[in-house]
Amino acid sequence: MSRTKKNNDPSPLAKKICACGCEIEFQPKRSDQIYLNSQHADYAYNNGKRKERYESEKLISKAIRLNDRIAEKFFKCSESLRPKINLVLLRMEGFQIDAFTRVIQKEVLGQEFQLLHLYNFGFRIFNQDKTTMIEIHKL
Ligand SMILES: [Zn+2]
Repeated sequence: MSRTKKNNDPSPLAKKICACGCEIEFQPKRSDQIYLNSQHADYAYNNGKRKERYESEKLISKAIRLNDRIAEKFFKCSESLRPKINLVLLRMEGFQIDAFTRVIQKEVLGQEFQLLHLYNFGFRIFNQDKTTMIEIHKL
């Protein structure tokens, strides 16, 4: 009466290495099974999500740093304390109006506006004669 388990399990599927990165070898039950079990599948999913989020955080902070450098360049080239520059010119340098750290509600002489903060500089978007302009503020 010594029938081994091996003989009861003649699985035709080749063993696989779990795709979550744990390096565990397992016997798949279905041909499309790539994880050892649902915990390993969850782990892989969450890890992938985190990595994705991290990648987009890196991209956004890179864009903000670039915006800050562009703002500084135009600020230094200008006589004005708050230079107003055509967005087209900023775009040519790689400026992205959707990359900023936070939005600050400001009011100057009764006029409200939003100042989008970078690191050392901030900017305000406004229209002048159908042209989108950016006013640079040193923070
Ligand atoms: Zn795994």
